[in-house]
Amino acid sequence: MMTNDTPMPESGSDVAANLAAVRSAIAEAAREAGRDPAGVTLVAVGKVQPVEKLEAALEAGQRVFGENRVQEAKAKFPSLRERYPDIELHLIGPLQTNKVKEAVALFDVIQTVDRPKLAKALAEEMAKQGRRPACYVEVNTGAEPQKAGIPPEEVGAFLETCRTEYGLPVAGLMCIPPADEEPALHFALLSDLAKRHGLPVVSMGMSGDYGTAVRFGATHVRVGTAIFGARPAKE
Ligand SMILES: *Cc1c(COP(=O)(O)O)cnc(C)c1O
Repeated sequence: MMTNDTPMPESGSDVAANLAAVRSAIAEAAREAGRDPAGVTLVAVGKVQPVEKLEAALEAGQRVFGENRVQEAKAKFPSLRERYPDIELHLIGPLQTNKVKEAVALFDVIQTVDRPKLAKALAEEMAKQGRRPACYVEVNTGAEPQKAGIPPEEVGAFLETCRTEYGLPVAGLMCIPPADEEPALHFALLSDLAKRHGLPVVSMGMSGDYGTAVRFGATHVRVGTAIFGARPAKE
């Protein structure tokens, strides 16, 4: 269930206006929760969107972006980075071990660390490249069998493996709640897990529910449609 507590755009044609509306909704939700709006980072999710829309966002001052596919990000971002070297790029989609090399070279943050084999491959590749993108552990808060992520009750053990066995720079947790459930319960669970394990970063909330996510402690919200409009069909 989408809570629709946040404004949706009429169309994606005015990226700058949409961005401003999303930023102000984030600030309002933060203030309502007694939080500093500066403590929430907006990750603009430009997957499947044309580069022109990303450029419009960059012109409007947006620098943090999320992509869910390594190949697509590789096609779009190196040239954007020539003009905007301070772009911060997050991988928010599933990562296969055969793409780890490219992912470590391209992304500043990998939000979807979801299994020991991937943690090991990332650690080995980081050592090779001398580049250490921040890692978030993806948590399957809804325990959905088809969905990636570590079950909530196994997060502690997995974090321990990432830290002590692989020395991964784990900064936080991320989740994608089940589409048909009230997201607030999942957001509360993820915030609680992060707090319990001393992790400063909590990545949660998308176009339909980022206000709720901020009220429940999100430090990073991942917003696509509300900024760029509906995605073109192929996804
Ligand atoms: C696509 C995507 C988003 C953005 O979704 P919108 O509903 O368009 O804001 C956020 N997080 C992940 C993991 C995604 O794949």
